[in-house]
Amino acid sequence: MKHQKGKGEARWRGTAVSDGAAAGRVLRIHTGARDYIYRVRLDDDEVEREVRRFRAAVRLSRRQLRALRRRAERALGDEHAYIFDAHLLMLEDRKLSEDVEAVIRGERVNGEWAVKVVTDRLLAVYDEIKDDYLRERSSDIEDVTRRLLVALSGESLRGRRLTEDAVIVAEELMPSTIAELDFTHIKAIATDMGGWTSHTAIIARGLGIPAIVGLRDFYRHARTGDTVVVDTRAGEVVLHPSRERFDAYKAKEQARDGGAAARAVAEESRGPLLTEDGVEIVLRANVELPAEYEGVARFGARGIGLYRSEFLLTQRGALPDEDEQCSAYEEVGRVAGADGAAVRLFDLGGDKLGGLALEADGERNPALGLRAIRFCLQREDVLRTQVRAVMRAAARWPIDLVLPMISDLTEVRRARRVIEEERARLEAEGREAGRIRVGAMIEVPSAVMVAEKLAREVDFFSLGTNDLVQYMLAVDRGNDEVAPWFRSLHPAVLQAVSRTIEAARAASIPAIVCGEMAATPAYAVVLVGLGAHELSMAASSIPRVRRVLSRVDSRAAAEVARECLDCATADEVEELVRVRFGERWPNLFPPETLPAPRVNV
Ligand code: PEP
Ligand code: MG
Repeated sequence: MKHQKGKGEARWRGTAVSDGAAAGRVLRIHTGARDYIYRVRLDDDEVEREVRRFRAAVRLSRRQLRALRRRAERALGDEHAYIFDAHLLMLEDRKLSEDVEAVIRGERVNGEWAVKVVTDRLLAVYDEIKDDYLRERSSDIEDVTRRLLVALSGESLRGRRLTEDAVIVAEELMPSTIAELDFTHIKAIATDMGGWTSHTAIIARGLGIPAIVGLRDFYRHARTGDTVVVDTRAGEVVLHPSRERFDAYKAKEQARDGGAAARAVAEESRGPLLTEDGVEIVLRANVELPAEYEGVARFGARGIGLYRSEFLLTQRGALPDEDEQCSAYEEVGRVAGADGAAVRLFDLGGDKLGGLALEADGERNPALGLRAIRFCLQREDVLRTQVRAVMRAAARWPIDLVLPMISDLTEVRRARRVIEEERARLEAEGREAGRIRVGAMIEVPSAVMVAEKLAREVDFFSLGTNDLVQYMLAVDRGNDEVAPWFRSLHPAVLQAVSRTIEAARAASIPAIVCGEMAATPAYAVVLVGLGAHELSMAASSIPRVRRVLSRVDSRAAAEVARECLDCATADEVEELVRVRFGERWPNLFPPETLPAPRVNV
């Protein structure tokens, strides 16, 4: 957050959401939105480098446009490809480039700002023109400007062309953008916005990529190619690190990359996980993208506790058809093996739509809008296709189905009716439909209040603590401004978890905790204390949770949990956890792994 200029190094503090450290070069990912263009004042010796950067962006944009023109010509014919000629002409116009360079030099500002100044001027002139045709051309200027801004940001390196290791820097990363990147080259992620349970954070943890969010104004200071160090332990990024610092982090990275660590993980994660007093705890994996599949076995997950199927859309940019979905779920089933996988219906809406033009796009209050089961029931065609695909895949692998964001039993009944109708249709078509267990995500307060009733009509509960905290405490899970109010250890949240687990136990159905809370070792102990025996989390979090749970006595955890349930405030619970865990397991929980004392809020 604060920008403290030291000896060339500049630091920003944020929220660490995925552990690790990395040293590398910045790759800025930019959406090209004009509203987010910042003015950065340059030192004298930076001006010519900026001009060169701008020229490179023009060259790159021209190359892209020529390629686009060739593609358009092949696909649509010459008469449609001409629009790219107009864009090319604009970029070849020496006057435009000269004007931008004059602004960079004259005002000593960054290329993005200079492009904005010059194109704003042009747009103002076009706006005055009476001729409709010419006025329409302003959209070409907008388009070319966007392309130039994206090229300046280095975004053209996105996707398959991300061939070098990079630290991804963005204002905010949409899941779809991450899905487009080549993960093997992402060393770390640093964003201005986002919170612990935002989807960027969840994916970063899933892939084991160090990530810090909530850096506020880091993006506008970092440039593609700058050196940077990301340290999630310290919760900070250091731009232009000293050579010593940079080398020290590089050395750490190499040590970590060595095979010994991976072998140790594999060794530790074999066999069932028992607490010190012999209670078995099952740890499963939450999975979003195929890149995470290999971690399921590597980190010793017992199957897939939650497959967030909506990520299929962010990878493809559209709804996959039944066959495509069936193959995707078969693949998930194959990865999970005999331990099984729980495929969740598309949890679209909220922050998860990724800009796809579906019904819920542009809602005023998406988290409370046409999200998850509401969307599925509204778009029954989408629901039926997905249900068919899941049942077909379930004929080959043990697969369950989870209904997201249930707030009323009627939603379960309607979904079940659709499932049974599609089962009958599949059978009538001579296709095999596997037996699936149907579970409800418990993540809305109303579902907790009627959990006893729900438990009689579903086969299992899946506790989504990310949304449960969001909806119980009315805190937007992705908004870093209100992150201090996102208290997983709030007594109301603990009461809700306890009540849900109790309702499942009374109805003899399993309850699995799938939210991010389970991935924090101290919180996992509280969850076990509340009676949870199954937890699902980013696969890379499994080893550290496993290590802690295997050294904890579940009866002691239950005692602490009981005390927590009696607390009046989140502060009291956190204080209690700090004190009790410190007393009982001093070596297991060094102070930095426990909730930090709160000063305000
Ligand atoms: C949750 O809400 O806790 C959950 C597991 O699902 P998601 O994070 O995808 O909403
Ligand atoms: Mg959820």
